[in-house]
Amino acid sequence: MTLKFKNRIALFNTLAMAFTTILVFGIIFFVVYNTAYSHLDDDIQAEKEEVISNLFLLQDSIVINKMPEWEEAEHSQIEVNPTFLQINDKQGKVIFRSVNLPGNQLLDHFTGNNKTFYNGDIDNQRIRLGRFPILNERGNEIGKLTIAVSREESNNVLGNLIWVLIISFPIVLFVQFITSSVAASRAIKPVNQLINSASAIDDCNIGTRLKMPPHKDELYELTQTINDLLERIEKSMLQQRQFTSDASHEIRTPLSAIRGTLEVLIRRERAPEVYEQKIAGIIGMVDRLDVLLDQLLQLARIDSGKTNARNELLQLHPIISAVIKKWEKQASEENITIYTKIPEETLVRADKFFLEVMIGNLVNNAIKYGKKNGHILIGWDNKSQSLSIEDNGIGISSKHLPHIFNRFYRADESRSSVVKGSGLGLSIVQKLATIQNISLQVTSKEGEGTTFSIHFPS
Ligand code: ATP
Ligand code: MG
Repeated sequence: MTLKFKNRIALFNTLAMAFTTILVFGIIFFVVYNTAYSHLDDDIQAEKEEVISNLFLLQDSIVINKMPEWEEAEHSQIEVNPTFLQINDKQGKVIFRSVNLPGNQLLDHFTGNNKTFYNGDIDNQRIRLGRFPILNERGNEIGKLTIAVSREESNNVLGNLIWVLIISFPIVLFVQFITSSVAASRAIKPVNQLINSASAIDDCNIGTRLKMPPHKDELYELTQTINDLLERIEKSMLQQRQFTSDASHEIRTPLSAIRGTLEVLIRRERAPEVYEQKIAGIIGMVDRLDVLLDQLLQLARIDSGKTNARNELLQLHPIISAVIKKWEKQASEENITIYTKIPEETLVRADKFFLEVMIGNLVNNAIKYGKKNGHILIGWDNKSQSLSIEDNGIGISSKHLPHIFNRFYRADESRSSVVKGSGLGLSIVQKLATIQNISLQVTSKEGEGTTFSIHFPS
């Protein structure tokens, strides 16, 4: 059974109230019970004082004289608050009993387990008894005085009280449940409104934000959190759309170029060297498409979160040598010299394959955007555990620098058409760095050169 939130709150409140009520009712009953019985005990005590003061003691025996006290109605009648008296001598023999004691009944068959005051019944009447020693002048016990009063009235009061408490208990709980339920439903009304407004938001109106509540409470924080979440979702949706449109554009451009070339070729017969030249161009474009699809696939894999980076302890030197070997042809075409200054035994923590992709992209950029006849320096700083790739090429202006890691972002439009690339390389590098806990930094000055630094976790 699933209870509604408001009913759950009401139920918890009611349970708490039930415990409190039981406690309060218990205290009330305890106080009333004690008060009622202490009143009876006070009466018995007063009666005892009176009787003892009227007793005539002769040496070690008690002489029962006719005392005015005995004549009082309470000792002779049974109806109106009777007080029963009984005196036993030292040997336990009854030497006096008040006339109102019904039948042959005596008070001494009740024992209060040596307590002074205790309860008993006589002739269907509930009584409270008090038993006291009768002492002679030397303080020796020469008999016992037992006094009993009716506790019928106190009993009735306590009985009525119990009934009142038993009947009022469910009423209190019922009222508590209803009021809690009403209060809870009022309290969660804004939450329901929030649910309604939030569920009305979909792809089409993702720009909508929830109305902030007037008071800065938990609800305010919840609304704020949902709005922040919507902000992030909207941003990522826009990025996704942008990415899809950029990706299709990047794919469509070489495809149209291929189609255009093929249409020109098919129109009429050409000389074999024209075919050779055009087909070589098409192969170049297909290669570009191939690289682009490869990059898109890499990004999709990283984005899906299925790529797990291995945390291996790697020798940096052979990795750098392998990357340089891969790009040395392109570097020599531009007459760019690559210098490496990495101690032989340098160890880093990373995923070998990902690290090769990262360094490969950075070296490729350094060649592409480097200076003809220039140089590239690949160095290691042991103190900061970082690898730097520095070129003396065109550099990046401060206007473009913050955006170079964005997908499909290419800084220099005029060069973009000359230098091949799709603007995905650095976004891949950054993503791979993130999943390996590697931090990436770039410093650049337009016209002077660019340095990328890779800081490895220690
Ligand atoms: P791709 O790497 O996908 O083939 P790309 O090299 O153009 O294409 P990125 O590597 O992401 O894309 O680089 C983004 C942009 O940053 C480049 O277009 C370039 O303008 C600029 N850039 C990157 N590295 C350098 C560098 N070393 N010197 C100057 N500009 C750079
Ligand atoms: Mg690149």
